[in-house]
Formats: sequence, structure tokens, C-alpha cells
Amino acid sequence: MDKNFQEEQYTGIVKFIPPLYEQRYQFIKDLVGKYKPKKVADLGCADCTLLWMLKFCSCIEVLAGLDVCASVMKEKMHRLSPLPGDYLQPAERSLTVTLHHGSVAHKDPCMLGFDLVTCIELIEHLEQSELKKFPEVVFGFMAPSIVVISTPNSEFNPLLPGVMLFRHPDHKFEWNRAQFQSWALETARRYDYSVEFTGVGHPPAGMENVGFCTQIGVFVRKYPQTSESAQSGKPTEAAYKTVFKAVYPSLKDEKYLQNAVVSEVIFTAQIIKRSLMDRLMLEHEEYNDDPTEKKCKFQPSFNCLSEDLGKLVVEKSMEPFVNGNVVYIPLTTIFSFPKVNRLCGTFEKLHKLIAGKVTLSSDGSAVMFNTEHENEEN
Ligand code: SAH
Repeated sequence: MDKNFQEEQYTGIVKFIPPLYEQRYQFIKDLVGKYKPKKVADLGCADCTLLWMLKFCSCIEVLAGLDVCASVMKEKMHRLSPLPGDYLQPAERSLTVTLHHGSVAHKDPCMLGFDLVTCIELIEHLEQSELKKFPEVVFGFMAPSIVVISTPNSEFNPLLPGVMLFRHPDHKFEWNRAQFQSWALETARRYDYSVEFTGVGHPPAGMENVGFCTQIGVFVRKYPQTSESAQSGKPTEAAYKTVFKAVYPSLKDEKYLQNAVVSEVIFTAQIIKRSLMDRLMLEHEEYNDDPTEKKCKFQPSFNCLSEDLGKLVVEKSMEPFVNGNVVYIPLTTIFSFPKVNRLCGTFEKLHKLIAGKVTLSSDGSAVMFNTEHENEEN
């Protein structure tokens, strides 16, 4: 027996573990993991649960939801807003989440340019007239690389407790596999897509002939879109109303990148400074033990460099050093730390991002710390 399926009675009272809706969402998550789409739209997104799950997929940069019922979308849409942690540690990718109020029977330019469009348990809610327009809107107009459509498989219904006609009172129809597949194949043929059929919710042992509880068609566009085909005959007038928009903090945004780099530079410089000071303290102690031997080693690095000599050492060396009460940490050393390096990419960018935000030596080659107050505190 399938692991996701629990048969409570032989008579066919079935229960899915995890619940069927979760299995449908997991199917989409797996597909996202496989194809790594950047822009994903969920049509008939209802309370935005799938969108909320998808916001954690790091390949996605644009998420959009559409539903004809604004109130159901608004119920839990706050879950799509950035959290304090997103601001404290902005992600490397950018992410914008938008919710639109409107119908899949209408075209709106905000739905252009998506890589993946999901329609989970949507089509069976459409009136005949809406279902007729749906293929032209989704496949003809939106024309994403991949479309996923899921809908109940009516052949499974006799196994579901309490289902008389349809699984939900708002369903306008429920198709068996042959009906769904002939509609899907005709749609795919007309709009140059290929389609493969699968599903979630396995039937109980011995009843495999009914097929999956939820049937799924995965449509893949056969030819890449040219910029001409993407634009031709596409209306530019909006038909949907935007009800929610969240732009997540991202390191792609110079403002957040600068904050991250400045904190990382200060943090790294503090670590280097601490280890330098510890080393000097150790040398100092050794010097006191045997003043004749250690004197030369200690003197140049602590308190005795003239301003000019200090500058020269910074220029010539990657070594941090102390001059009087000031510790110099060369930027080249800081840049060699992997996190700083990854954040900035180039040394020039590091310079640019910290300019005016971090105290640098007069030639701009080293981060400076004054140890005076620190010593007082200690
Ligand atoms: N995809 C969700 C919800 C399925 S219920 C899930 O898997 O749980 C179907 C949703 O489609 C409802 O929220 C309903 O309001 C919406 N819907 C119905 N007709 C629609 C239309 N013409 N355009 C857009 N959404 C529609």
C-alpha cells in the first residue's frame, strides 16, 4: 500500500497522509526544484497557501497570485509580507510578491513573462463561458514555459466518503481521465505545448484502475518565445486590480548590500584587530620575561611607528599593525575574507560601498580603529 495513503476500511473510506492539498503543493514545489523558474504565477490562489510555500524557494524572484474572490485572498495575505529576519539578513535574490483580483477569463499584461503558471483545483470552478476563454488567456496570452493544471478525477469519487455528485458545492463539473486528457491534448495542440499526465493521491490496493484522486496535466511550451510573439496582439490595458504587493529586502538592492558590507567589514576588522591585540599582548608578556631578546620584535609593531612609516607599512603589506593608539587593518586583508569577498565581488566595489561609512586611513587602504577608549574600558 502507498505510504501516502491510509485505508481505514476495505469498503473504501480513504484518508490521505499527508492531506491531498499538501501533496498537490508538494508536487508544485518539486517541479520548481526541477525547473528552477524565476517567475511563478498561481491562478485561483485562494488563501495564498501555495504562494506562501513557494516564497521559500530561493530560485523564485517574482511570485504572483490571482483570484476572482478578493476576500479569500486577503484572509491570510499578511503571511506573504517580509519578516523582521528578512530585513536583518537580506537574501541574495530579489523577491516581489503581488496579488491581483480578477478572473482567468480576462487578459492583463501583469501576467506576461512568467516561467511557470499553476492552476491547482481551479478549472472545475469555472463557468462554461470562463472555461472556454481560459486556454486563450493562459496558453495563448500568458504563454509561460510551463503550465500545471490539476483537477479532481471523477473516477475516484466513489471511494471518497460522502461525495454524491461533486467533491465541492462550487464545482461546475468534474471530469474523468478521458475527459480531462482530451481537453488537455486539444489545448496543448492548439497552443504548441506538449502535455504529460500524472497525479497525486494513489488509489487503494486492488483499485488502481480508478487512477489518482487528483489528476494533473503538466504542459511544456514546445518553442521558445520570441520577443515578437511575446508582444504581438497583447493588450496593454489592465483588467485586474492589485490588492497586495511586497518587495523583499535583497542584496541586489544597493542600499541593503551597502549595509551588509559595512557590517561585515566592521565585524571582520574587529576579529582581525582582536587577534592582533592578543598576539601583541603575548609578545609584550614575553618581552617582560626576557627584555633583551624580544625588544626588537616588539618595538616596530607597537607604539613606535611614525605617521609616515605607518602609512608605508599599510601600503606595502597586508599585515595589520598598530601605531600609537590606532590599529590599521588593510582592506586587502579584509577583502580576502570569503564573506566580504562574496558580497562585494571586486575590491573596487568594496571601496565604493564602505566609502564614508567606515573610518579609513588617509590613503583609504586600511580600516582604522582607535584603541584608546578600549584600553580605558579594559
Ligand atoms: N488553488 C487553491 C484554491 C482552489 S479553489 C488550492 O489549491 O487550494 C478555486 C479558487 O479559484 C477559488 O479561490 C476561487 O475563488 C478561484 N476562482 C474561481 N473562478 C475563478 C476565476 N474565474 N478566475 C480566478 N480565480 C477563480
